[in-house]
Amino acid sequence: MSVEHHRVVIVGGGAAGVTVAARLARAAPDDVALIEPSDRHYYQPLWTLVGGGVVPATASVRAEARVMPRRTRWVRDRAVEIDPDRREVTTAGGLHLGYDVLVVAAGIQLDWDAIPGLTEGIDRGAVTSNYRFDLAPRNWQRVHSFGGGTAVFAGVAGPHKCGGAIQKATYLAADEFRRRGVLNASDVVLATPAESIFGVPEFAEPLAKVVERYSIDTRFGHELVEVRPSEREAVFKTRDGPTTTLTYDLLHAVPPQSAPDFLQSGPLAVPDDPRGWVDVDGETLQHRRHPHVFALGDCSGAPNAKTGAAVRKQAPIVVDNLLAVLTDREPEARYDGYSSCPIVTGYGKVVLAEFDYSGRPHKTIPLIDTARERRSMWLLKRYGLPFLYWHLMLRGRV
Ligand code: FAD
Repeated sequence: MSVEHHRVVIVGGGAAGVTVAARLARAAPDDVALIEPSDRHYYQPLWTLVGGGVVPATASVRAEARVMPRRTRWVRDRAVEIDPDRREVTTAGGLHLGYDVLVVAAGIQLDWDAIPGLTEGIDRGAVTSNYRFDLAPRNWQRVHSFGGGTAVFAGVAGPHKCGGAIQKATYLAADEFRRRGVLNASDVVLATPAESIFGVPEFAEPLAKVVERYSIDTRFGHELVEVRPSEREAVFKTRDGPTTTLTYDLLHAVPPQSAPDFLQSGPLAVPDDPRGWVDVDGETLQHRRHPHVFALGDCSGAPNAKTGAAVRKQAPIVVDNLLAVLTDREPEARYDGYSSCPIVTGYGKVVLAEFDYSGRPHKTIPLIDTARERRSMWLLKRYGLPFLYWHLMLRGRV
C-alpha cells in the first residue's frame, strides 16, 4: 500500500477548507493537499435570499476549481477514514494520504430521513427548505404563489448551521405576503425547539417587534417529529411532552444535522456524543487527544454558533496554531467564539447579530447600532458579504 505524504492535509473544500488552504498558500507550507469530492462550491448564506426571490440560485455557486488556491493539490475524492495514530486519511477511491498536520473541515450532514415523512414531503413537492441549493428556489415559488392559509416554518433541535435561517425564511415570507395583500388571510407560524426568539437579549428585543409587526404565531419548545404529506400535517413534540399537529398549506423545514457519518463513527469524535462533532478545544481548535489534528467550521465540536462568519474568524487561528505545531511550538492563538447572523427581517431590512462565547454582543462595525433593523445591513448581506466571501475570505485575505 503506497501512502502519498503531505505536510498538511485538509478534508473538505467548503468555506472552511478553502479559506485555510488559501491562508496557508499565502503564509507558508507548499505541500498542502485538500480532499473535496464536489466540483461545485456554494455560498450558502445566499440561499436565504434565493428562497426569498431576491437572487437566482446560480448566484450562490461557482466551480470548485475556481476557488481552489493554485498551490494546493486538490484530491477530488471523498475521505472515508481517518487514522490519527498513523496520521493517515483514506479516500473512497483508495488513496492513502499521510500528513504532518490534518485540518478537518467536512461541514455538516443534513439528516432529512431523521424525521419520518420529511423526505417524502420534499420528494412530492409539498415541503420546501432553504437548506438545499435545489429547494430554495422552490421555497420562493411556494411563497410567491401563496394565496392565504397556514404557512408553517419549522426549526430544528440540536446544533445546526445558521440558527437564524428559519427566522429569516419566516420574515421574508410574511413580508412577501404583506406586499401581495395576503398576510391578513394567512396564519404564519414559527414553530421551533428554541425557548425564545434569540439567545442574546440585545437582539431578541428588536426581533420580538418584527414578530409582532407580521402577527407571527411563535410556538417555542416545538420540535418537528413527523410530516404527513398526504394529510398536509406537521407533528411537533412540545417541551412539556405531548405532541401537537398543525395542518399546513405551506411547510418550510430545517432538517436535523450532525457531523458527516465518517466522522461520527471515527476516532476524532466527541466521546458519547451521537452527533459526532470533532472533539477540539473551543479556543485553540486543536484536537483534545490528537495534537496534530485541527477542526473548524460546521463539523467542529467547538461550542460556537455554526456560521460562515465563525469560519472567517476560526481560519486564522487554525493556521497560526498548525504552523506552531509544524515548528514544535505551543499553539497560542485563541478563538473567542465570534459568530454573526445577518437576520433578514423583511425586504430591505436586516438586524446584524454579532456575538461570541460570552453570550454578549460582539460588535465589529463601529458607530452603527446594528441591533436595529437597517437598510445598510441589508446591503451588506445582499452585496457586501458575498463579495467579501468570494474575493477576500476564500483568497485568504480576511
Ligand atoms: P461547508 O461550507 O458546507 O463545506 C463542507 C465541505 O466538505 C463541502 O464542500 C463538502 O462537499 C465537503 N465534504 C463533506 N464530506 C466530505 C468528505 N467525506 N470528504 C471530503 N470532503 C467532504 N453563515 C453565515 O455566516 N451567515 C449567514 O447568513 C448564513 N446563512 C445560511 C443560510 C442557510 C440556508 C444555510 C444552509 C447556511 C447558512 N450559513 C450562514 C452557514 C454557512 O454556510 C456554514 O456555516 C459554512 O458554509 C460552514 O463552512 P464549512 O466549510 O464548515 O462547511
